[in-house]
Amino acid sequence: MNDRLRQLPSVDRLLQEPGVAALLAKVPRTTLVQAVRAAVAAARTSRQPLPEDWAAAVADRLALLTAASLTSVLNATGVVLHTNLGRAPLAPRAVAAMAAVAAGYCTLEYDRAAGSRGDRADHCRGLLAELTGAEDGLAVNNAAGALVLALRALAAGGEVLISRGELIEIGGSFRIPEILEASGCRLREVGTTNRTHLADYQRELGQARAILTVHRSNFELRGFITTPEPQALAALAATAGIPYLYDLGSGLLVDLASHGLVGEPRVGEAVASGADLVMFSGDKLLGGPQAGCLVGRSELVERCRRDPMARALRTDKSTLAALEATLALYRDPDVALREIPVLAMLTLGPQRLSELATRLAGLMPSAAGATTRPGHSAVGGGAFPTAQLPTTLVAIDPGPLGGSALAARLRLGEPGVIVRVEEGMVCLDPRTLPPESLAAVAAAVGEALR
Ligand SMILES: *Cc1c(COP(=O)(O)O)cnc(C)c1O
Repeated sequence: MNDRLRQLPSVDRLLQEPGVAALLAKVPRTTLVQAVRAAVAAARTSRQPLPEDWAAAVADRLALLTAASLTSVLNATGVVLHTNLGRAPLAPRAVAAMAAVAAGYCTLEYDRAAGSRGDRADHCRGLLAELTGAEDGLAVNNAAGALVLALRALAAGGEVLISRGELIEIGGSFRIPEILEASGCRLREVGTTNRTHLADYQRELGQARAILTVHRSNFELRGFITTPEPQALAALAATAGIPYLYDLGSGLLVDLASHGLVGEPRVGEAVASGADLVMFSGDKLLGGPQAGCLVGRSELVERCRRDPMARALRTDKSTLAALEATLALYRDPDVALREIPVLAMLTLGPQRLSELATRLAGLMPSAAGATTRPGHSAVGGGAFPTAQLPTTLVAIDPGPLGGSALAARLRLGEPGVIVRVEEGMVCLDPRTLPPESLAAVAAAVGEALR
């Protein structure tokens, strides 16, 4: 045994040391024992001298051990729907609605008038229909779930026609052909990657139980391409007596064309095109909580609602509360644009962004050498994939520390700030930062540069 191992204290001895034992006031014994073991294990393998202050070493381990894994961070990347950072931040009214039902009892499945059992599927039903022009609506856990549910409920055991140009991967191992298979459907590819004609669908109608269109949400196909209009596919499906399903991905409910964002189909347009069932996310352009919405013909929505899979995909009370509150804001599109953070961030004007960047740069410590420069934000979340939203960035010179090291310190600081590194400079985009957070961001940069 070498000297180092001989000098290592035992876990039992450390637990009796007053400085360590005092930590029992904060955490249960089992947690403290874990921290002590971790501290001893770290000291055993470290090249540093053994800690002089074991209580401090254990306290450090304890802090690591008990730190929350899911914590809030500030998003300075300018990617509005950042999937890794939780997609859509919620509107204050949605947060309030969520908190109100989370802390107590609520009418999740309760009919107040009758004093008897109600149905959780009823909560967002009316609003989904009203805002999209559909006959009926249903919310489940996410849009992937909505698609699985629709395919299972309406086409399980049968063939689903889909264009070869739409056999896409949404991200995170979510691939349309695999989803179809997992839903118990047989995939029938039609057309080619770049060109699919109505006749291609027509030829394969024989065994088909549904026609599916998947919006190419995260990339653009350009050049020599053809895709039938949803209207034409809806009409074709109707003549064959099968449903036309349209997976839109993003739940855009308002027109953003006047803000330079074009090309993303709105839910209302998809419904108006004659699609029998339209599916979309709650936490992409809709700007609500993670959810998947299905809207369309009553009979089809009802079949989805009654499918056993609906039980496995059902939303919880806080999701429904946040979704209902978010949807309610759309009754007045101007209110939606103002109060739903995703829409407010996407429609921030260049003048306002420049003001915010100037303010943020002014708050930075002089060591940051902050300057402002033109740049671009992104929509993210697989929507408007090629849109480049002009913004003003705050660029920080990381000095000898280097861009990626400064970015890492910012990530791990308190609050954590997630940034971009471009050409060696650390860049912060005010578009995705709450204006009231700018002083905290500047302070975090000062701390990280120290
Ligand atoms: C994002 C997306 C989905 C998945 O949505 P989630 O809510 O993340 O499950 C499905 N289809 C398309 C076309 C999408 O863009």
